[in-house]
Amino acid sequence: MSKNNLNLKVKRSSAGLGLFTTTPYQKDDLVIEYTGETITEPEANKRGGKYLFELNDDWVIDGKSRDNIARYINHHCKPNCYPKLNETETRVFIYAKRKIAANEELTYNYGKDYVNQVIKPAGCKCSRCLK
Ligand SMILES: [Zn+2]
Repeated sequence: MSKNNLNLKVKRSSAGLGLFTTTPYQKDDLVIEYTGETITEPEANKRGGKYLFELNDDWVIDGKSRDNIARYINHHCKPNCYPKLNETETRVFIYAKRKIAANEELTYNYGKDYVNQVIKPAGCKCSRCLK
């Protein structure tokens, strides 16, 4: 686990385990990097799994490693974070979408494809949809 993320805690949330912050963030603050092995799209299709983050049409990060605590960030339909790639599309960083208070769960929108293929069939468990 990265020593830079001591303010982040994995805890139970409405969607199973989730990632929570113990410190506040300002809008557009960097929260955490989504890390993992960079693999090709065909390799990602072969592996499958819940922690694949698509960089572009050719490359995917497999974030299944337990060192990647960003993998605990759940999908939310009205999230408080957003992912953004670096300029070379090789790394993914998660930023605060708005001001975030201490003890809030961190979430981002997983994107239309993932939502339609994975989340919708099972029913979205984000706090907005469970209301
Ligand atoms: Zn939802």
